[in-house]
Amino acid sequence: MRYTTLRKKMVKNQLQARGITDPLVLNAMETVPRHLFVSEALADQAYGDFPLPIGERQTISQPIIVAEMTQALQLSKNDRVLEIGTGSGYQAAVLSKIVSRVYTIERIHSLLINARKLFDELHYFNIITKYSDGTCGWRDQSPFDAIIITAGAPKIPKIIVDQLADGGRMVMPVGSQHLQELILIQKDQNGISQTNLGGCRFVKLVGEHGWPNA
Ligand code: SAH
Repeated sequence: MRYTTLRKKMVKNQLQARGITDPLVLNAMETVPRHLFVSEALADQAYGDFPLPIGERQTISQPIIVAEMTQALQLSKNDRVLEIGTGSGYQAAVLSKIVSRVYTIERIHSLLINARKLFDELHYFNIITKYSDGTCGWRDQSPFDAIIITAGAPKIPKIIVDQLADGGRMVMPVGSQHLQELILIQKDQNGISQTNLGGCRFVKLVGEHGWPNA
């Protein structure tokens, strides 16, 4: 009950107040119990306006970042979406409330196991998980209507852009290890276009087409 109230406040004061208007995004974030995606000790902070640690030196993004990235994907209910960087599973859960199917890849086994368990407990049966280096994408399941990378990369991995459907949208942080720009990539008959959505700060995308594991 208390968490329902905190969640409503988060949507109003952090998301709507900062220009999130997509009703699908607002509704999803009002529904998904974010406090279950962090450790019990941090549950009371889960609806705060900041990122939180999720173990393994990784973080769950600040609510507004999740909302901005999700809104940028311009989703509709029949879309199939690929996420790279499952982490806590929160972003995948938000996506699963909006679209028909979510494919999510994580390279740290313990994080993936925790997220998978939570998806099952919450009956989010339209989320399909994979333990792998996500920088290669998920070719067998491509093309995707939308792709979201929730870790920062030195450049846009072409191999992933190739897995976008015609009319597809992709959002990801690109830049140095400490500071990135959020880039929206759109694919149509004329090719690829890029829009810079502003500065952001993510953990590293580590893998063959990301940063080296050091
Ligand atoms: N979307 C997550 C945010 C997780 S932080 C959430 O909602 O909680 C970024 C995640 O990307 C980390 O868990 C990290 O392990 C993962 N990651 C980094 N490089 C990766 C790669 N090459 N493939 C898959 N996951 C990766």
